[in-house]
Amino acid sequence: MLIIYTGGTMGMHYDPMVRSLVPFDFSDIISTLPELGRFNLTLELISFVKPIDSSNMKPSHWIALVELIYQQYQEYDGFVILHGTDTMAYTASAVSFMMENLNKPVIFTGAQLPLSEVRSDARENLVTAIEIAAARKNGKPIVKEVCIYFNHALMRGNRSKKLQSSHFDAFLSENYPNLAEAGISIEFNEAVLYSPPDKPFRIYTKLDSNVLIVKLFPGITKEVVECLFNTSGLKGVVLETFGSGNAPTDAWLEDILKNASKKGIVVLNVSQCIGGTVFQGRYDTSRHLEKSGVISGKNITTEAAITKMMFVLANKPFSENVKASLEDSMRGEMD
Ligand code: ASP
Repeated sequence: MLIIYTGGTMGMHYDPMVRSLVPFDFSDIISTLPELGRFNLTLELISFVKPIDSSNMKPSHWIALVELIYQQYQEYDGFVILHGTDTMAYTASAVSFMMENLNKPVIFTGAQLPLSEVRSDARENLVTAIEIAAARKNGKPIVKEVCIYFNHALMRGNRSKKLQSSHFDAFLSENYPNLAEAGISIEFNEAVLYSPPDKPFRIYTKLDSNVLIVKLFPGITKEVVECLFNTSGLKGVVLETFGSGNAPTDAWLEDILKNASKKGIVVLNVSQCIGGTVFQGRYDTSRHLEKSGVISGKNITTEAAITKMMFVLANKPFSENVKASLEDSMRGEMD
């Protein structure tokens, strides 16, 4: 099993010089957690040269992560990635798109309190994430997808969302059941686990950052929206709308969206709600979006939507038909 440490609270300590939590060298973790030695597994650890707070995560880190997994793919049965919680759902979503025909578990986890704290959730999260990554049935891994394990729940990575910054149950699986629950035993919900096609594993290592998330609110002005849509080089917008995908019916908004469509800028409609789905045309307040070429994001999370857009815009053959690629579920990220 390969554990990849990228940074985050799990391995942070309090630095009195800067009076805040900062990442530290995690290479000793396996020797400082004796319970890890009781697994009948070979655990190896690779750490980012400079571990980071995940608020500093960038597409270049996602590329480095998938390249590392690709290089080590044959050597290990599974991968556990230690990552800060702040952007974990973005990273898990991005790497899920960048890896095709993944046939092994890639389990992200982290903690709300550093490992060094007595009440830390790090120990349980790490130990159970390793156990999940090692779980096999009939000689094959049970989990063959990118997941987040946190506070007793295993979730599909590209369905997850950070919802809590102070409680231990930091993540929610949006619009999809948990893949497993860890109580006194780990109960897998096998019916909802992802089954990859039986094809060779491959990765994509390009991402296009010329994208934006525009969150609507009552009172948003034409000037602001126009300015955002006029961003130089812009190729795609995730439009966070109300309810089941609704937006103000002001003529200026329709004009901006039609103009964007003419310029080849793709717009994906994602709801601000954390449950339910976008249904363009259900209300009059979404028919103009449909008419303006806006694509329905159905029940995708914003985190999956923006990373999928970065992926689709950058990689062939998806970039040759961006609309169809965004409309179809690629790695179980939407229904
Ligand atoms: N700021 C931290 C990070 O995302 C928070 C955490 O790890 O929970 O790296």
